[in-house]
Amino acid sequence: MLVWTLMIQMFSVSKTYPSHITALSGFYLEIDQGEFVFITGPSGSGKSSLLRILFGAEKPSSGEVIVNGIRLTQPGFKKVYQLRRMIGIISPDFRLLKDRNVKENVAFVLEVMGVSAREIEEKVSEILRLLDLQERARDSILALSAGEQQRVSIARALVKNPSLILADEPTSVLDEEMTEKVMEIFSDFHQKGTTILMATQDTRLIQRHPYRTIPLMPGKEGGQESKDEVRPEGCSLF
Ligand code: ADP
Ligand code: MG
Repeated sequence: MLVWTLMIQMFSVSKTYPSHITALSGFYLEIDQGEFVFITGPSGSGKSSLLRILFGAEKPSSGEVIVNGIRLTQPGFKKVYQLRRMIGIISPDFRLLKDRNVKENVAFVLEVMGVSAREIEEKVSEILRLLDLQERARDSILALSAGEQQRVSIARALVKNPSLILADEPTSVLDEEMTEKVMEIFSDFHQKGTTILMATQDTRLIQRHPYRTIPLMPGKEGGQESKDEVRPEGCSLF
């Protein structure tokens, strides 16, 4: 029997914005189910564009993108909500609901999935406790520090126990102790089989953790170099 083990496939993906800036060009990527992968590279190298394409929030200009067997680039693609159910995304700007408290922000994800009130209560309490936010559960988002807001955005991504985590600089405003705590939580999810893609510019963090690292480099046009330049035969990065 053929077993599907690839979580992500990108073939010759390019992304050029209407401003004519090219964020990705001729980009290839294969990630197995259950892998933990760092996406690194300087500001403007295309990390966020890459993650937004995998979430179906941005369409590539050309190329093929397949996530968990779903081809995002097929004409008339309409399964984006089905895809997003299995993805936990952490955005650099957190995207929290400012008029709701911490607990409501995290619970909301499960409410729209139709999870029972009792289960929501249990799961939200557990994830808030993991991220040291249990004391802030009833506080307004506006009353939180940036680091606390980032932890709420992490809690919201993890509470639905996603198969794939797309984390865009998820520790950018956390201190080192909290960064390591988040990495431990991610590692626990990874141990349980979750696939994790984490964009980060924190080279010390990458050195501390032995995961595959995919470096993006701004090319001449401000995007990723072509396949031939970054993918020598047999290179383990791709
Ligand atoms: P990174 O996350 O590595 O900083 P981005 O994917 O945010 O890289 O950006 C890659 C390039 O694409 C940059 O030059 C950026 O200015 C450009 N870019 C990103 N998003 C947009 C957008 N929505 N519209 C126009 N240009 C964009
Ligand atoms: Mg970015």
